[in-house]
Amino acid sequence: MRDGAGKRARTRRHRRARDRRNRNLDQPARPARDIRLAARPAPAVRRRNLMTISPTPRVAELAPGIFAYVQPDGSVMVNNAGFVASGPDLLLIDTCATEARTKALLGAAQAKTGLHPTLVVNTHHHGDHTFGNCVTNPAPIISHEYARRRILSTGLEPMSLTPTVQFGDLVLAAPTITIETRARLYVGAIEVHLLHLGVAHTAGDLVVWLPKSRVLYAGDILFNGGTPFLIDGSLATYDRVLDEIRDLDPRVIVPGHGDPAGTELLDETRDYLRWLRRVVAEAHERGQSPLEAARAADPGPFSAWLDSERLVVNIARGLAELKGAAPAEPLDYAQLFADMTTLRGGPIHTLA
Ligand SMILES: [Zn+2]
Repeated sequence: MRDGAGKRARTRRHRRARDRRNRNLDQPARPARDIRLAARPAPAVRRRNLMTISPTPRVAELAPGIFAYVQPDGSVMVNNAGFVASGPDLLLIDTCATEARTKALLGAAQAKTGLHPTLVVNTHHHGDHTFGNCVTNPAPIISHEYARRRILSTGLEPMSLTPTVQFGDLVLAAPTITIETRARLYVGAIEVHLLHLGVAHTAGDLVVWLPKSRVLYAGDILFNGGTPFLIDGSLATYDRVLDEIRDLDPRVIVPGHGDPAGTELLDETRDYLRWLRRVVAEAHERGQSPLEAARAADPGPFSAWLDSERLVVNIARGLAELKGAAPAEPLDYAQLFADMTTLRGGPIHTLA
């Protein structure tokens, strides 16, 4: 008994001595920042990684070094991103809505390329593509000048529209480099064009075009299986932007939400806009409100697309333009979000 108890006591002493030795070895080598982080209780979001993002995001290599990052189900706040790697450079195309989702994106890019972003592009200002910007620090961020202004003026306020989402520890990080029409980047050996083709989804849309591989990152100008959203855009000028994209002759298009596809996305979007124009014209003739018109409309095949309640916003955009509003002129956002909730019969659907 005594021998056993003595042995246990000796083992405990040895363990304590070993732990002290390890601490002494660790402490001088650790940078001060790590010690502070280790001492802080870890927020719940830190425990989430790629495996716990549900449904699990998918990485698709579209050409050597050129990747799409696809987040199912592609609904509100669940966006696509992308990355392009060559040599020491990693261009990140958009971030995600939450800290956990953006960290999972960076983890996926790291796993495929071994790199942290050296440059970030925001395709437009919406939070699902930009809230995670701060996580990419210290990489510079490029956007259209309008997108930077909207990021600064709107801030993180739109988070309140989806109160169930755990956004994590995020601060506003606005782009530091802006363009108005076009820019050419060289990511290692890969040539990348940033193009503003006009007002479609927003007044600050940029597409990311890789002329050699003919891959196009469209941002939210295109959705695959989701309803176009013109809350900050223009029905009057959307088709012209689609024409410009078609003229580039892309082989693969990475939409802002949904799976990568070909130019059929341009056709489907054009069909929806054509139908939307008819609905808007009828609403104008009958003097209907956007909500009345949306309730009366028959979306046919478009009813299967995600977030179909956006129709009420898209009608409001079309009606405003028929009455002379300029593309992307601000609408009554509070009213339109209330109308979407009414049309849907419940709060906005999101898996973020
Ligand atoms: Zn958007």
